[in-house]
Amino acid sequence: MKERIATPTKTRQIIQKNSFAFKKGYGQNFLIDSNILDNIVSSAEITPEDFVLEIGPGIGSLTQVLAENVRRVLAVEIDSALIPILRQTLAGYDNIEILNQDILKTNLDTLIREKNDGRPIKVVANLPYYITTPILMELLEKHYPVTSLTVMVQKEVAGRMQALPGTKDYGALSVAVQYYCDAEIAMVVPPSCFMPRPKVASAVIMLRVLPERRVKTLDEDLFFHIVKCAFGQRRKTLLNSLSNQGNLGLSKEELTEILRGLGWDERIRGETLGLPEFARLTDAIIHAGGAKPAEPDTAVFR
Ligand code: SAM
Repeated sequence: MKERIATPTKTRQIIQKNSFAFKKGYGQNFLIDSNILDNIVSSAEITPEDFVLEIGPGIGSLTQVLAENVRRVLAVEIDSALIPILRQTLAGYDNIEILNQDILKTNLDTLIREKNDGRPIKVVANLPYYITTPILMELLEKHYPVTSLTVMVQKEVAGRMQALPGTKDYGALSVAVQYYCDAEIAMVVPPSCFMPRPKVASAVIMLRVLPERRVKTLDEDLFFHIVKCAFGQRRKTLLNSLSNQGNLGLSKEELTEILRGLGWDERIRGETLGLPEFARLTDAIIHAGGAKPAEPDTAVFR
């Protein structure tokens, strides 16, 4: 095992030697606690046969530990200033490939096919917090061959991913994550484990992708449209949210009938519905002749 990058002294040394300036806009908070890295690796349930995609390797702290535990690591880093640094810090490893790219503009389908013959991969990352949700939704929605995602995110966001109906943290992100995965918070990580220190606590969450979606619905797009609508204005009733924002091609009276047909009070709020209820609602809307509007969804998973 080589000297660990993830110590305060080593990290400071690398930063100073290369005159590297942290870019806040890229969410650069590097891990400087080696124990956390060991915990991430054990939470990720990786094996020596695994191919791991790491998003945002930084100066290589996590990359190094991953490389020592898996067959191959593909690390995608947006900041070109970090590429020569990574070449130095990870010089002794022959199972790491570094790509200087924006993960959100990377064709992951092609990448997984080219780099791992389309076989399943695992994702392990200390994610840049400003794009946590778009990255996760891209990885989950597109049905790539990904078996698990073990990611460091803001603690509050990890809480939302795990949240259950009726709780204050429950929202569209909870439904989306739980539709595709089992979610388990592995550990909470204080700001002191990073350089520079972020303002908030972080958490490592392990998302195990389910072999089948958690619930079946006639139209996945409509299901998510309804979910986003239901949580778009939390203080509104489900009926008002659907009739004001839904554009489902159904009148308020027709929507009221649908809710009654499901045996629900028409004053029900979206935040009380679990995934099976959202699926039943989606199918009832389809049976009543409703559909997702043609224009693309602009709402986001929060
Ligand atoms: N993995 C390192 C660690 O744990 O110390 C660094 C993690 S830091 C929180 C996030 C990293 O993601 C930074 O290196 C940043 O430059 C990179 N990053 C930010 N946006 C990115 C994007 N769109 N695509 C790829 N990498 C990105």
